[in-house]
Amino acid sequence: MIRLELAGVHTLLLSPLCARCPHGRAGCCEAPPAVAWADIGRIVSLGGRDFLLAEIHEGRLVPQTRGLSIRRAPPSGPFPERCGYLGEAGCVLPPDRRSATCNYYLCDEAFAAAENEGDPRVPRGRKMHDRLTTLFGRWDLELAEAIGARYPRGAPWDAEFLDWLGAELTARVRKARM
Ligand code: SF4
Ligand code: SF4
Repeated sequence: MIRLELAGVHTLLLSPLCARCPHGRAGCCEAPPAVAWADIGRIVSLGGRDFLLAEIHEGRLVPQTRGLSIRRAPPSGPFPERCGYLGEAGCVLPPDRRSATCNYYLCDEAFAAAENEGDPRVPRGRKMHDRLTTLFGRWDLELAEAIGARYPRGAPWDAEFLDWLGAELTARVRKARM
């Protein structure tokens, strides 16, 4: 059975298959997603602005053209190179400090395994997964354009910028009625 916690843009989808991921010991976390513009806005809207500033300062999150990338951890023990936030017992970040993809993404195998067990949550889970993929993709493009217009010399990565990004994302979430 998958775990589905519907909460709009903060929706959580988890599968028991992830603990024995067919793709390797680190599962999806071997290739962490970007913390893209809309993800940054979401984290700020949940009170994470200072967390982001501290992580950038420490070099665990690195500014790039699409937002932030997560520093990788080198191979160690049973793990290959992976996301720097993957600890031995799983992700060390709470859901409100992660890229939204980390919360709502499930692979086809995980959905199929749940479907084979007759899990009734699968159709709603798939629908939410697809909707969030579309929305976050669209918001990333819109925010990239808005950042280019407001900050032609590039994102300044300060508190004012992050607060503005949080407000921009919040306005879009409201408009999408999520
Ligand atoms: S979602 Fe799929 S690929 Fe990702 S950890 Fe779970 S089982 Fe593995
Ligand atoms: S932030 Fe957490 S859930 Fe996301 S890729 Fe890294 S370890 Fe995995």
